[in-house]
Amino acid sequence: MKTYPRYKRYDLGKQQAGTVIEIVLSCVNNVRLMDHANFTRYAEAKSYKFIGGRIEKSPTRLTIPMSGNWHVVVDKIGFQTLANSNVRALVPNGARAANAAAQTGAISGAVQGVTVDESGARPDSEAHVVTRILNELNTYKQIANTDVLTGLANRRAFDARMSGIFSDPQTRAATALIITDIDHFKSFNDTYGHAVGDAVLKIVATTVQQSLPDNAFSARTGGEEFAVIVESVSVAEARDLAETVRRAVETAAFVDEATGTDCGQVTLSLGVCMAALARDPGDLYAKADAALYDSKNAGRNRTTVVTEASDERPAETSVEPVIYSVTG
Ligand code: GH3
Ligand code: MG
Ligand code: MG
Repeated sequence: MKTYPRYKRYDLGKQQAGTVIEIVLSCVNNVRLMDHANFTRYAEAKSYKFIGGRIEKSPTRLTIPMSGNWHVVVDKIGFQTLANSNVRALVPNGARAANAAAQTGAISGAVQGVTVDESGARPDSEAHVVTRILNELNTYKQIANTDVLTGLANRRAFDARMSGIFSDPQTRAATALIITDIDHFKSFNDTYGHAVGDAVLKIVATTVQQSLPDNAFSARTGGEEFAVIVESVSVAEARDLAETVRRAVETAAFVDEATGTDCGQVTLSLGVCMAALARDPGDLYAKADAALYDSKNAGRNRTTVVTEASDERPAETSVEPVIYSVTG
């Protein structure tokens, strides 16, 4: 046995007295406007009276006589009509739009409310809803790709960018990966505590980003590890950029604003590798990481660049790359 919903409700939200709302309906029968108290009685299937009365025509302009929550209710009609009925409330700019989440019953998908835009022009409802949904999707996409602590791109966004680089041979030919790791970071946490450590990470992130050109893509790829992807560069330019980053961090002031704690100097070790020297994103990361490891071993606060093997055989098939250090 099927159970059909008895009514479909659209919550107009709390409106100021005197607000003019235009209700646009896809069906005109059995559509009523109720205040919250009456709606509650209605929903409980007890006696009720209609405050706004029956809505006979579409569109219908209604002036809300007092503040409070208002509901447009479609009821007592066939299931299909009920499912397909659509109520659109055009609420003037500044007033609260209908609450999209407040619809009750087993029906979904109807447009709930549209706010008239700045110009006062009444927008096409579908376009409005599509724009709103796209904006929401963009927001979620942004959240999914951003590191919460530093605001830089996160590992997920970094991986996507790396795949993109390798999918285009022309881009890959002149792209460099710079990876960095904070030196002796554990001791910052041990000395000043985790909260100050977090503040240091934020300052490093900002310093790295500000020392790079606009086309560089920087991400936090791990706890105290940051990576930079730079397109359209030679290996010498990539090395210079890495050195710029290293010096910027080395000379930055690390004072935690919240506590006033001065953490003194923070340094980075860096590894640089051109994408052209690697088979795939994983291989590029591994090669840059090997160079970074070399920087650590050589005393930290320095940059190591992976250079092409001198016999110039392509990296895909070549022997181990030659590694040399740029001393900080
Ligand atoms: P090295 O110079 O060899 O890199 O030494 P290190 O101490 O930086 O390296 P290690 O990998 O031993 O320690 C990294 C530390 O980074 C461990 C952890 O306490 C700290 N860390 C990782 N993520 C976070 C974070 O999100 N916040 C804070 N405050 N610390 C973090
Ligand atoms: Mg580390
Ligand atoms: Mg470290």
